[in-house]
Amino acid sequence: MLIRGEWTDGCNEETFEVRNPATAALVDRAPLGSAEDVGNAVDAADEALNGWSVLPPRDRGRILFLAARTVRNRSAELAALLTAEQGKPFQEAVDEIRGFAQVLEYYHALPASLHGGYLTLPPYGHALVAHRPLGVCGAIIPWNMPAILMAWKVGPALAAGNTLVLKPACAAPLTCLALAGILQDSGLPAGVLNVVTGSGETVGRAITRHPAIRKVSFTGEVETGRQVAMDAAPTMKRVTLELGGSDPMIVCDDADIADAVEGAVRGRFYNCGQTCTAVKRLYVFESVAEEFIRRLTARIASLQVGNGMEEGVDMGPLINGAARERLIRLVDAVRKRGEGRIVTGGGVPGGGGYERGSFYLPTLVTDLPSDSVLFSEEVFGPVLPVATVSDLDDAIEQANSTRYGLGASIWTKNIETAMRAADEIRAGIVWVNQHLRIPPEVPLGGVKESGIGRENGYRALERYLEERAILIKP
Ligand code: NAD
Repeated sequence: MLIRGEWTDGCNEETFEVRNPATAALVDRAPLGSAEDVGNAVDAADEALNGWSVLPPRDRGRILFLAARTVRNRSAELAALLTAEQGKPFQEAVDEIRGFAQVLEYYHALPASLHGGYLTLPPYGHALVAHRPLGVCGAIIPWNMPAILMAWKVGPALAAGNTLVLKPACAAPLTCLALAGILQDSGLPAGVLNVVTGSGETVGRAITRHPAIRKVSFTGEVETGRQVAMDAAPTMKRVTLELGGSDPMIVCDDADIADAVEGAVRGRFYNCGQTCTAVKRLYVFESVAEEFIRRLTARIASLQVGNGMEEGVDMGPLINGAARERLIRLVDAVRKRGEGRIVTGGGVPGGGGYERGSFYLPTLVTDLPSDSVLFSEEVFGPVLPVATVSDLDDAIEQANSTRYGLGASIWTKNIETAMRAADEIRAGIVWVNQHLRIPPEVPLGGVKESGIGRENGYRALERYLEERAILIKP
């Protein structure tokens, strides 16, 4: 079952609402999928596998490339849909849609250069090592970056010759449906990509438990990832778990302060702070802390919060009222305990059309104790906690004092400082003088509780293939 972008026409299934987080207006409805729908999707994917997996890789790649071209041509329309359902500023949505195209462009040509192996092995004869697709795969994604996360799974899975059943999050399924429709219109055979919308408990778990699915690639929270790993274990599925993070950013005493301020603002407030690799903890050297915090405060206070479709808006709303409630409770608890100092923000913007949306002000909290909940938990919203550190040893110790290990950044002009931090901070990706950029060529994934496996890069393709040995006696 491929649910296409125009599925609402004549749809008799039970549906759920998708609402605009900036205005609370209804954007559209999506089908409330069932375990039976997942079963039908897996059957369709299984049937499509024979044809798709034996297509010359170049022919598979051509379809992905054509889809990428259409996505680029329709990026404004797709970005408007993404902003409507997810809330991010329009320009961020345009960048994400182009990112979807870029990932497909990257993967489309790679499988054609994948070669197997050959060995002469007397007395056994000739040994061939072939790469074969895994079969039907499952993909489960969250709502924060639906287009790019869909691309990270669809690109390598389909390029390698697998078929896929994908479940978007309930809060933002519409852009994924539209992108799947474009792939189909670009020539993707029926059954190769199947999108089933609906809840994690029903649709997500039906995917992770289905015996015919050979791999599940999951992106979401650590707790959900644990459940996915347990549900996948009885049928021995491969799992890729891309989970939460609490990325530290370290600003050294020799950093370019203006660059670091911009990096912190983009790193934390991009996508309203709802990014896995956002700057979630900031450690600044004591000797430059005063100047850095003064300039950072002014910059954060200048950010325009509003409907992402409006001109000049830097930050949209949180995904929904429940996410905002969680943030309000968290910051209020910190305030009540008298922990730290809220330098700017710390609440909901008043009046001016903000009432209907789930907006929260960009917030800076300084002078926090190192055991503050703002450092120990993943805060998924626009709140930046800052602490000072005495030197690099102190900074690295603080950076590592977490169960997470997704990303980290160090801001310095000294290459030795940068390399030491890159070696000693336990994270899947360490940026130097930048944060958040993830080109498709670079592997992404976590250490510690941030996950298992990697996405992106050419090796992501290998993770959708298995090696098979063939021994030939002459
Ligand atoms: P979530 O774990 O609540 O949901 C993610 C997806 O899993 C959704 O589609 C949901 O419906 C589904 N799901 C829920 N319960 C399930 C279950 N029991 N079995 C199978 N599927 C289930 O996460 P979220 O709140 O939507 O997303 C935010 C989280 O995602 C954050 O922790 C963020 O850091 C993380 N994230 C990680 C990366 C990465 O690359 N590491 C990227 C983006 C987001």
